[in-house]
Amino acid sequence: MSDHISENLFDLFTRDLADLSATVIETPQGQRISYGDLIVLTGQMANALAGLGLKPGDRVAAQVEKSVQALILYLATVRAGRVFLPLNTGYTPTEIDYFVGDAEPAIFVCDPAAAADLQATADRAGARLVTLDAAGRGSLTDAAAAASPDFATVPRQGDDLAALLYTSGTTGRSKGAMLTHGNLVSNTLALRQAWRYSADDVLIHALPIFHTHGLFVATNITLFSGASMIFLPKFDGGQVMDLMPRATVLMGVPTFYTRLLQDARLDRDATAGMRLFVSGSAPLLAETHREWQARTGHAILERYGMTETNMNSSNPYDGDRIAGTVGLPLPGVEIIVTDPETGAELAQDEIGMVEVRGPNVFQGYWRMPEKTAAELRDNGFFITGDLGKIDPRGYLHIVGRGKDLIITGGYNVYPKEIETEIDAIDGVVESAVIGLPHGDFGEAVTAVVVPAAGADLSESAILSALSGRLAKFKQPKRVIFAPELPRNTMGKVQKNLLRAEHDALFR
Ligand code: AMP
Repeated sequence: MSDHISENLFDLFTRDLADLSATVIETPQGQRISYGDLIVLTGQMANALAGLGLKPGDRVAAQVEKSVQALILYLATVRAGRVFLPLNTGYTPTEIDYFVGDAEPAIFVCDPAAAADLQATADRAGARLVTLDAAGRGSLTDAAAAASPDFATVPRQGDDLAALLYTSGTTGRSKGAMLTHGNLVSNTLALRQAWRYSADDVLIHALPIFHTHGLFVATNITLFSGASMIFLPKFDGGQVMDLMPRATVLMGVPTFYTRLLQDARLDRDATAGMRLFVSGSAPLLAETHREWQARTGHAILERYGMTETNMNSSNPYDGDRIAGTVGLPLPGVEIIVTDPETGAELAQDEIGMVEVRGPNVFQGYWRMPEKTAAELRDNGFFITGDLGKIDPRGYLHIVGRGKDLIITGGYNVYPKEIETEIDAIDGVVESAVIGLPHGDFGEAVTAVVVPAAGADLSESAILSALSGRLAKFKQPKRVIFAPELPRNTMGKVQKNLLRAEHDALFR
């Protein structure tokens, strides 16, 4: 009977494994873990978690460095029917206090070096504190090592929670997105099909695992394909170059690609064995796409997603991968563009709010029913907060976050359009266009520009290059030069920091 079939993500990927002796994880230190080992290790860890008094549905929060043990903690938590809550390693104890207080996990795993600082946080939230360090050692590992590997995976239904991931919160307080087994599995299967993933694939895994990209996209697609991954503690361009001859896929944020382009070894030969380069989590510059193709012959495949929805769209595996677009909706996912005021669906090529519906869309924000009601419509569409348009070929273009839209003298200005023009000027590496408070205009269009080393650029040269190309109201009132743009760990430009830094420019 169908209601007795478990839809636990762990049951679903292990059920179809053809070869338990195949490698799933390999580390630069030469550690090799087979699928059979993974079942043993997650069984021990799941027993250790149960021994700490967890009940199904409880949260396990972890602020730990990337390690094989940390990944096993994720899988064991899901296998045990608990809810995994990964936390960015960059968060300070004050920030952690908010997350742990909000989520009230039953267990909180942290680095041994941070345990003294975080004990009070754990106590306040009623969480048991255990430790795990970057080398995979700590009280949690000790408990797992002493536990039995025999563990009956806890049956779950598709709409049971598997994970709680906090949004990055660049435009307000972070919210916990509740993701189910069904959300994660459906999205993994859609991506596996879209990207032609198979057991022969070897992924270079260089992303952090506290975020949807590295934790779900990269890891789950590997597991559901019976494939393997070379698990790196962090991105290191030289190391990625060394590994390419042994790998088939790289998944990265745009900065991976801009950094690899600086490596003189990057060429057709170095990437000859690679099948697929995926980029996402932040916009990939069209320039980077073109340069990469010229150097390697590979067209980077850009996809679009977010914590709340997993992945929504992807450029095609077969067919045109169009730079500056995020491709077509994934199988089973609907994408529409609506009028931000009225919610009415807009016509092709009109810019508006991107909305998404499908089995990938989360259940709502943890303990925030009003926020959930404001962003998740009754008809199932999630209001992403991204502005975009759908072109006549059906490709989605993202023009920026709604909160980054500039309204100047009553006109809407979409930063991406101005940034694209500025980036095309000789000697410009990249740019960020923001709105700053202005007495007359409400907001003044302002460009922050990163010049190339040795480039001879001036504010007036940039403004005159733009003058014939953009309507007057879109032209920056000022250009500020900066050595680099502030980015978070996922490579997203933090426009909120730029706005704060230059807040007084026109006051
Ligand atoms: P996060 O929840 O941290 O994954 O952030 C999701 C946000 O990242 C989206 O709402 C977009 O604003 C942005 N994003 C993700 N992928 C892309 C992409 N390929 N192009 C442009 N923006 C992207």
